[in-house]
Amino acid sequence: MSRILVIDDQEHIRSIIRELLIGDNHQVDLAEDGAVGMKLAARNSYDLIITDIVMPEKDGFEVINELKQLAPGIGLIVMTGGGAGLDVANLMKMSQFMGADRVLSKPLDFRILQRAVKDVLEKKS
Ligand SMILES: [Mg+2]
Repeated sequence: MSRILVIDDQEHIRSIIRELLIGDNHQVDLAEDGAVGMKLAARNSYDLIITDIVMPEKDGFEVINELKQLAPGIGLIVMTGGGAGLDVANLMKMSQFMGADRVLSKPLDFRILQRAVKDVLEKKS
């Protein structure tokens, strides 16, 4: 069992991912934006963080930057569907450059997400 934090401003995405990860026997916390997510990340020790990019308060790029300081070895999966005139391919490239272990495009293929979670956790363990 791993401890995983999911940060996304869309409620239905958080719920689906939580169900999926609980089904794989993980312990899951949820945050509705990067600010709440970073508060949880500072307080708890996670094996993996799954974050959206386009969010209010604090976006995914700020989350990645802060996590690299706070928890350099932590597993990091980024998912993005673009938004606000932002190109998905660019956001994905940028996330990779910033050090995400995996970058997934939305709409999510949940089997690919499940696979990515498994791979990143194995790599980090
Ligand atoms: Mg979003």
